Amino acid sequence: MIIAVDGPTASGKGTIAKALASHFGLPHLDTGQLYRAVGRQVQLNGGDPDDADAARAACAFPDALLDDAILRSEEVGGFASRVSVHPDVRRALYDRQRAFALQPGGAVLDGRDIGTVIAPEAEVKLFVTASVAERARRRWLEMQGRGIDVPLAEIERDIAARDARDMGRKDAPLRPAADALVLDTTHFNREAAIEAAIEAVRTRLAAR
Ligand code: C5P
Repeated sequence: MIIAVDGPTASGKGTIAKALASHFGLPHLDTGQLYRAVGRQVQLNGGDPDDADAARAACAFPDALLDDAILRSEEVGGFASRVSVHPDVRRALYDRQRAFALQPGGAVLDGRDIGTVIAPEAEVKLFVTASVAERARRRWLEMQGRGIDVPLAEIERDIAARDARDMGRKDAPLRPAADALVLDTTHFNREAAIEAAIEAVRTRLAAR
């Protein structure tokens, strides 16, 4: 069973994907981490994330980089969003994601194009979303918890820009697959969102 969980930044898709993996006993891949590693490698190389050649070269990042906590920073997230526009970067990361999806027993993958490009045959596709204001509020709370004080309005602007870039790119834009179930978590807390996702997977499986 392949479960594809797509959605915009700070929608709760990562939390949901992890919870589904644990509930159904499946391995989980956060594909955003791969794009973040490419973004970080461009930064380490002193390159420009908007430059296709610099981004392509950064796809040869060492695996150890995936465990670096700096990948979670807002700055690296911005770099990730910019390198992910280049078709060569998406191609370079495809095989790794595809192999993970096809492992025996199945897997849960979360990202932007899992249900549309990486695993269009996935048995269950969820598209997790929430309003920009709510996603900004969650990100703000999370950052406050880490002692990082950034104005809410700035976070909201950044999220809106990231959405526009992810949805507007030519190659594998962020959009729900035709057969995806859209889960709007704007008015859900963490537990309610997880419960709704588990229920959605159960319903999908029962209908097969
Ligand atoms: O999900 P996360 O915020 O970690 O992803 C960082 C960036 O990587 C996103 O803004 C998006 O541009 C890109 N990404 C992507 N395709 C994926 C996962 C992430 O383009 N499957």
